[in-house]
Amino acid sequence: MLGSVSPDTDRAAEVPARVEATEPLDLLLRDLRSSRDGLSTREAQRRLIHAGPNTLRRRGTRQWPRQLVRQFTHPLALLLWAAAALAFSVGIEAVAIAILSVIALNAVFAFVQERHAEHAVEALAAFIPLHATVVRDGSRRSVDTADLVPGDVLIVSEGDKISADARLLDGTVDVDMSALTGESVPVHRSAGPVDSTVPLLQATDVIFSGTACTQGEAAAVVFATGMRTELGRIAALSERVRTEESPLEHQVRRVAWLIAAISVLLGAAFIPLAIFGAGLPFLDSVIFAVGLLVGNVPEGLLPVITLALAIGVRQLAARGAVVKRLSAVETLGSTDVICTDKTGTLTENRMRVITVATTSGDIDPFASAEAAEPVRRAARAMALCNNAHPSPTGELTGDATDIAVLAAAAALDPAAIGSAASDGHRLRQFAFDSVRKRMSTLDDAHGVHTVHVKGAPETVVPLCTAEVARDGTSRPLTERRRADILATVDARARDGYRMLAVADRPLPTGRPGPATPAAAEADLTLLAVVSIVDPPRREVPGAVARCRTAGIRIIVITGDHGATAAAVARQVGIVHGTPAIVTGPELDAMSEDRLDELLAGADEVIFARSSPEAKLRIADALRETGHVVAMTGDGANDAPALRRADIGIAMGRSGTDVAREASTMVLTDDDFATIAAAVESGRRVYDNIRKFIFYIFAHATPEVLPFLVFALSGGAVPVPLTVPLLLTFDVGTETLPALALGRERAEPGIMHRPPRPRGEPVIRRRMLLRAWLFLGLLCAVLALAGFFAVLLSAGWHPGDPTGPGTALHHAYRQAVTMLFVGMVAGQIGTAFAARTERASLRSIGVCSNPMLLWGIGFELVLAAAVVYVPPLQDVLGAAALAPWMIAFVVLFPFIVWGCDEVYRWVLRRRVPESSVPEPVPVPESSSVPESSSVPEPGA
Ligand code: ATP
Repeated sequence: MLGSVSPDTDRAAEVPARVEATEPLDLLLRDLRSSRDGLSTREAQRRLIHAGPNTLRRRGTRQWPRQLVRQFTHPLALLLWAAAALAFSVGIEAVAIAILSVIALNAVFAFVQERHAEHAVEALAAFIPLHATVVRDGSRRSVDTADLVPGDVLIVSEGDKISADARLLDGTVDVDMSALTGESVPVHRSAGPVDSTVPLLQATDVIFSGTACTQGEAAAVVFATGMRTELGRIAALSERVRTEESPLEHQVRRVAWLIAAISVLLGAAFIPLAIFGAGLPFLDSVIFAVGLLVGNVPEGLLPVITLALAIGVRQLAARGAVVKRLSAVETLGSTDVICTDKTGTLTENRMRVITVATTSGDIDPFASAEAAEPVRRAARAMALCNNAHPSPTGELTGDATDIAVLAAAAALDPAAIGSAASDGHRLRQFAFDSVRKRMSTLDDAHGVHTVHVKGAPETVVPLCTAEVARDGTSRPLTERRRADILATVDARARDGYRMLAVADRPLPTGRPGPATPAAAEADLTLLAVVSIVDPPRREVPGAVARCRTAGIRIIVITGDHGATAAAVARQVGIVHGTPAIVTGPELDAMSEDRLDELLAGADEVIFARSSPEAKLRIADALRETGHVVAMTGDGANDAPALRRADIGIAMGRSGTDVAREASTMVLTDDDFATIAAAVESGRRVYDNIRKFIFYIFAHATPEVLPFLVFALSGGAVPVPLTVPLLLTFDVGTETLPALALGRERAEPGIMHRPPRPRGEPVIRRRMLLRAWLFLGLLCAVLALAGFFAVLLSAGWHPGDPTGPGTALHHAYRQAVTMLFVGMVAGQIGTAFAARTERASLRSIGVCSNPMLLWGIGFELVLAAAVVYVPPLQDVLGAAALAPWMIAFVVLFPFIVWGCDEVYRWVLRRRVPESSVPEPVPVPESSSVPESSSVPEPGA
């Protein structure tokens, strides 16, 4: 099968039209005009111009026409269509046209909002650029995956997403090919002769774009990029943001339907009531029934929710938390357990070796003079069993632990880093993995083969049978010495240090090197115990304190030593007493019931030396017991746990591509504080959604009550509102303030209340009562008061005729206008009241939401136009108001808002904020003790 590279005749690219991906490697390299040393930067840039960026174009047809059509055909719109048809069929074209305008306006609004939301989420891809490691100009460097070109030598290692089709040059890797083949069990791929008769996807030395490396490390030459890769051919679709309906949208959709059904019933019930009770002609009854129906269908609700979530997503991204689906914002708001790892999330991931303890004493590598032989031997092992690399600028790049260890090795013995810089000495590597918790290399120095190992002391020391004595000779490692060394490690870990043991094993010459980690990592000679400091991030204690007041439990799950984790957790305020430390093996031996019990208890608990499977079990146990779990992870093996948690959180900087892909949220700064901020944002967005749902619901009572008064009075009271005015009110006052409420800032105390229970409905009874029976009723009563005040002042008595041509007709039109303006005024008061659920408006600032002020400005202009622009007056049945009427109605917003202010005041006094215990004070600053006197291992 062929991996084709586009034909081009230009000299610069010099890559032939087609390369045979499975031809002998030398021929392939020749055809690609490349070598095992990769390309030069300049050549790569030239090729980029010809081959184009290594990206996948989204095929697919244009989406927007379909989206637009959907806005006109969703069920609530269909209901409105039916209402319009009804209006047409009974000959009331004006109403029908008004309803059609409502449908059109809503559709356009919803369409614009949906597109906006989609763009907001799609733009997030830019926040998590993917990088690939390539060899350019003879050294490794990280480039944007879009810049990969055919001929590049790509280095893939565990956790990397592979972003081009490439042929392995050396090394072995396990690859998750599920994106291409659907097969979820990783396959083994290694450099070597290929069977060119098998299909390309099964070739044992070819790796493909879109797949991921789950283990090992290899170098490979790229032969196809962008749309010419297998992935480009078959799928042509990069990861798309999932756009499934969130639980919130689902809930609201159901409620919207319920309300629509109630509106239909209400409308239908109104007809007989109006005909038989008020003696209204059939036609008029239908008109009003249709008006009621249209007025009460909350057609704008869903798009506003989508938009509010999208805005939340954008704000989160700006704050460093990129979420991949809208519903994550909502889930974040109800998160009640955060399972966090330690290194890089709670700590800075800027490590520095503080001491290297050998039998010749403890030394600070950066302050020591001439190193003794045991130290030099340890330095050699530290430099060789290491994957950090000096970048072209001289800085070390790679894993933070490796960087710290290499820097220390270089300081101890400058010759050591020289040998590490050239990879030629390394014959084999058994890469670090989070289950073994160690790495080893087989190195060659002038024909002498040596295994070098470094890793967690508890996993390395038991494999050691000897140690280096002060004079450089080896001596047996007794059980007592081993126990002493591990006791010393524990003591250092309790001070918060990250611990490593370094060992080696000279091999007899002439024998083949060990082929498995188990064979290599045996019979070791212990060289040194290394203490590394990784200070906690400064922002973390504050964020932890906020989580505590917000009732969010934090559980540390780390691969590190339990005592180190406990010390760091104490420094940042996660633990205060003596936490229960559960190690990986202890967790493995624990029954499900015991685990549930442990997690349900109030005890502080830390999971240390844990494996990725442990994370999955803990996530499962927490979810089973009804918690909403956010879980961090960075390794390739963490993917299942990240998928299982409600919110899987991957690290943007230090994490692997695989973890990022499996996660719901990526932290661009890897910082725990960002998780806390994201939870706060989630709570705020959810609160705001409740605010505008409340606001939209509060419309209902003022829209319905005037008709009821009319119907129940048996016609003695004229109809207080015309249908066109009702529709104007509905459209004119709903969307803009609702959108503005979606942008409210967080209410004070948002992180001082317990998390929202999983499954709590977005629309609560208290909220409905406040909307319909408190503020809604208040607005309706005020508006009706205005209506009657105008009528009565003109000498009206119940039952007096007010139709066209009667003496009271002008007063009636003024009264109807007054009712309309009164409703608008009431909604303004409601909009201010809706801004907070509990807090006083003063505490959040009366004018702190400028968009709401604009929305209200728009409402006022609309109302003024209705009242004073003659053509509009005629169409809508309105009349200009006298100054005293305006003066009267101006009071309404203040009355509504003031009454709600009193209600919230009572609420604050009667219902305490939360049942969350007072926060425990956290230390202002947290630092690891800077002691450097380390006991000799086992001294
Ligand atoms: P967390 O899970 O909180 O991020 P961690 O980074 O300490 O913690 P791992 O990366 O699994 O967890 O490391 C576990 C242990 O393995 C460390 O305590 C250290 O002793 C050892 N270790 C870490 N990195 C390396 C490495 N590059 N080479 C050898 N050993 C390492």
